[in-house]
Amino acid sequence: MKDARAHLSLKRLAYAFLIFCFLAIGPLNAQAQSQVQTRQQPALPHVAVLATGGTIAGTAATETQTTGYKPGELTADALLKSVPSLGKVAQVSGEQVSNVGSDNITNVILLKLSKRVNELLAQPDIAGVVITHGTDTLEETAYFLNLVVKSDKPVVVTGSMRPSTAISADGPSNLLQAVTVAASPAARARGVMIVLNDRIGSARYTTKTHADSLDTFKSPDDGYLGTLVDNVPHFETAVAKLHTSQTPFDVSKLDSLPEVDIIYGYQNDGGYLYDAAVAHGARGIVVAGVGAGSESLLALPSIKKAIDKRVIVVRSSRTGGGYVPEDPAYVGLLGDNLNPQKARILLMLGLTLTNDPARIQEMLHQF
Ligand code: ASP
Repeated sequence: MKDARAHLSLKRLAYAFLIFCFLAIGPLNAQAQSQVQTRQQPALPHVAVLATGGTIAGTAATETQTTGYKPGELTADALLKSVPSLGKVAQVSGEQVSNVGSDNITNVILLKLSKRVNELLAQPDIAGVVITHGTDTLEETAYFLNLVVKSDKPVVVTGSMRPSTAISADGPSNLLQAVTVAASPAARARGVMIVLNDRIGSARYTTKTHADSLDTFKSPDDGYLGTLVDNVPHFETAVAKLHTSQTPFDVSKLDSLPEVDIIYGYQNDGGYLYDAAVAHGARGIVVAGVGAGSESLLALPSIKKAIDKRVIVVRSSRTGGGYVPEDPAYVGLLGDNLNPQKARILLMLGLTLTNDPARIQEMLHQF
């Protein structure tokens, strides 16, 4: 009888133990499983956003005002906070490099920015970099970076045509698209990209073509690298010219850049602006020539005088597209199909390495 009772309580104990296991270990196991699931979810890529100012950080008095506003008002942090969806595509961190309209981007800012981009890209945890910038000279900064960045990781420059306070401001979607492209492995090794208004363009070819329109960034002869649909990047083409790690330019030890001026071609150009540039100490002059880089007969004596003084002259076109051909009637190197502002950027960097016209001519075709 005693044995039977002891047997019964043992049985009860065993049942109680089983129920305990079911209640206690079950949830623990579920917790462990969910931890595994969380760990298995890949962490979002880290994209660093460097803010320089421009309309994307601009504010106006009314929502209809898209001109006459103050550019460079919002800080990097405020810009990132204004687009909460960024957190779905990347871990973003912001830094302020400058906060100016892009008409006030100087060589000093260009050097500071490009050194910082290279530092960030050298960090293993950084997947890509986005630069927010005024649109007016955005292509110059983008092309400068395209020549001096030493990494295959994506670098994207973006901006906006409407200030942050405007109705249908384009800044938030441009920033989201830029960060999405910078976080995308498919964007690697494509050179520096310009992303605005659903389009992904190469810094080598993309240019601002309209003073006011939202759809202003175009790539006249060469098309876009790709587009974004539903915020998904689709790449179509690659860049033919050499860029980023493929160039010899090194900004790490530079604290200034040589003076290169652009002189616009026009009827009755008497050439005295060339004399003034040389007197001021220009080491290079880009001619924004008429048509395919033609120079006025009236200006030619001054251009030749500049070349005699070892100033490097490059012919480009003021038309907004096309190549500059050899022509014995004119003097200077050929700017390939670089527009005048991009030819200036390349000439400044070329002059940091050499004063040899033949070597610089080679660069003008390669990059
Ligand atoms: N003026 C402005 C700038 O370039 C224009 C813009 O950002 O769209 O900074």
